[in-house]
Amino acid sequence: MRIDVVSIFPEYLAALDLSLIGKARQDGVLDVRVHDLRTFTTDRHRTVDDTPYGGGAGMVMKAEPWAQALESVLAAAPASQHRPTLIVPSPAGAVFNQAMAHELAGLEHLVFACGRYEGIDERAIDWARDGFDVRPVSLGDYVLNGGEVAVLAMVEAVGRLIPGVVGNPESLVEESHADGLLEYPVYTKPSSWRGRDIPEVLLSGNHARIARWRRMEQFRRTADRRPDLLGDIDATSLPAADLKALREAGFDVVGGRLMRPPH
Ligand code: SAM
Repeated sequence: MRIDVVSIFPEYLAALDLSLIGKARQDGVLDVRVHDLRTFTTDRHRTVDDTPYGGGAGMVMKAEPWAQALESVLAAAPASQHRPTLIVPSPAGAVFNQAMAHELAGLEHLVFACGRYEGIDERAIDWARDGFDVRPVSLGDYVLNGGEVAVLAMVEAVGRLIPGVVGNPESLVEESHADGLLEYPVYTKPSSWRGRDIPEVLLSGNHARIARWRRMEQFRRTADRRPDLLGDIDATSLPAADLKALREAGFDVVGGRLMRPPH
């Protein structure tokens, strides 16, 4: 996969040299290129922002440096039948999640436009639709100072889904959000630590019992921490073994939705 990131703080993206993403870059699985937006300015001060039309606080990123930067990315893009996808990090975008990470991991070329100040002149984003599939994406319902942190999070979440990035692909299968549930609790040695023992079932060697326990812990944890996710599950599509165990654990099914047991 090819990834281009445009930012006024290219140093911010140095973290993409580390850990699994850094190794994937070294191995040629990910081709990540970071560009300094100021390279595409023409004035002595390398200006990328100006005051907002209509007044108000803060500055707005000028359209022209963005157009120049994105034209340069397009000119250097690998040949493909598909337009690159331009992700514009923004608190006013669609909220990023694991389903979106999977969708983006299937694409050939992602380009990220890191905004700063009050954001990018909207005309630059409209203009980019001629050459890119443009998607404003939010990391969550809060406001960051710039798009770089959002890009680091998205590249890591997308990158680890690309074959060859995570050593053992099986570790992706049971993770939180892989099947709409949160992951079960995990433990390592020693089995007894500061007076706390691991759940006995994990020492049983009985794989079926362990799998059942883990599955039920996923439901319990999701009900406790993210009841909104539990509400998204179509209980009628759950395997009979799940439904039986859920009923035994005090869950109920009402109108096709799982209801958590009372505390
Ligand atoms: N004035 C903008 C608004 O209220 O929507 C916020 C601008 S924010 C201070 C500057 C930049 O940070 C944005 O252009 C965007 O690139 C990035 N940013 C801030 N919050 C974000 C979020 N939740 N998700 C993704 N990017 C975000």
